[in-house]
Amino acid sequence: MSTTVAAYAAPSAKAPLERTTIERRAVGAQDILIDIKFAGICHSDIHQARDGWGEGIYPMVPGHEIAGVVTEVGSGVTKYQVGDRVGVGCFVDSCRECEYCLRGDEQYCTKGMTGTYNSLDKNGEPTYGGYSTHLVVDENYAVRIPEGIALDVAAPLLCAGITLFSPLKHWNAGPGKKVAILGLGGLGHMGVKIAAALGAEVTVLSQSLRKKDDSLRFGAAHHYATSDPATFDALAGSFDLIVSTLAVPLDMDAYLGLLKTDGAFVNVGAPEEPNSLNMFSLIGGRKTLAGSMIGGIAETQEMLDFCGEHGLGSDIELISADQINEAYERVLASDVRYRFVIDTATI
Ligand code: NAP
Ligand code: ZN
Ligand code: ZN
Repeated sequence: MSTTVAAYAAPSAKAPLERTTIERRAVGAQDILIDIKFAGICHSDIHQARDGWGEGIYPMVPGHEIAGVVTEVGSGVTKYQVGDRVGVGCFVDSCRECEYCLRGDEQYCTKGMTGTYNSLDKNGEPTYGGYSTHLVVDENYAVRIPEGIALDVAAPLLCAGITLFSPLKHWNAGPGKKVAILGLGGLGHMGVKIAAALGAEVTVLSQSLRKKDDSLRFGAAHHYATSDPATFDALAGSFDLIVSTLAVPLDMDAYLGLLKTDGAFVNVGAPEEPNSLNMFSLIGGRKTLAGSMIGGIAETQEMLDFCGEHGLGSDIELISADQINEAYERVLASDVRYRFVIDTATI
């Protein structure tokens, strides 16, 4: 039998989020029931709740940075026990048989992953995310949170952490590599922490110098203001890798000019408007322009274990559910230090 649980939902694209109730499915043989303790607020939640990417399904319960405790397991569950600390990220299912699912890149499933929210599951039912008290999920789409990371600062790792870890590993950020992180928000601050822990020399490219002290505290060696044109002269041809977390279109040609020959500009930000560039910015210097989306389940576990070993968590502002709408406005104003996390006990 399904269970009725409390949640915060956007009733429509134009309306603020409000308290409601939703149904969670009965715990199936492969399912675990999670008592959600904390849910991070990702900028993607705002894009989707306000229908910035289109095709939003309403009412929408956002939230794909979920940390909690297992309170029930299905008869066939082998990986988790009651009491285990677990996380769920951006997807809760995929086809499990395409070449990408088979190699652990479920996020690139050819049939399309099932999003944790704003998606339809295999039965055509809408999925609801982490701004709620409980979640029922297939054990294969959950990950284990290491004991050394508190659940509140672990929650943002489930999206912000893996979204930066995956490209940093893929493009070999490490000793001897100069890496720039563009935008010091939720994703960006985890990018700085992870790239520094991987051994890279990290530079933060931020709109201003306001967050410089934080950049250095997170492990960056340098912090520059992109509002200052002198930055683009000073850093021309400097980086092996730039990871952009910007949620707005940007002057691609200017940023490609900051790469070394053979350098890569990897975009993880998901602006609502298209972006253009001059092809000459790529061909001079054999540069790569790429994108990257979250990471697979095994890689998410690898990221969590890495964060556990290196003592990394997110810097958070813990809020109650009735502060979600205000938090959205602060994220849009780049006024987040550095991830809002909802205490789901307040829902
Ligand atoms: P966020 O916390 O709002 O951080 C974005 C940062 O970008 C801001 O803190 C700010 O940093 C900078 N910024 C904001 N407005 C700007 C402007 N007008 N011009 C220049 N810089 C600006 O957002 P987030 O949660 O990190 O997410 C960032 C983007 O990544 C969103 O589009 C989100 O949907 C997307 N995303 C993608 C994936 C993926 O898998 N690819 C996963 C999660 C999220 P400074 O103050 O330092 O300039
Ligand atoms: Zn996200
Ligand atoms: Zn697949």
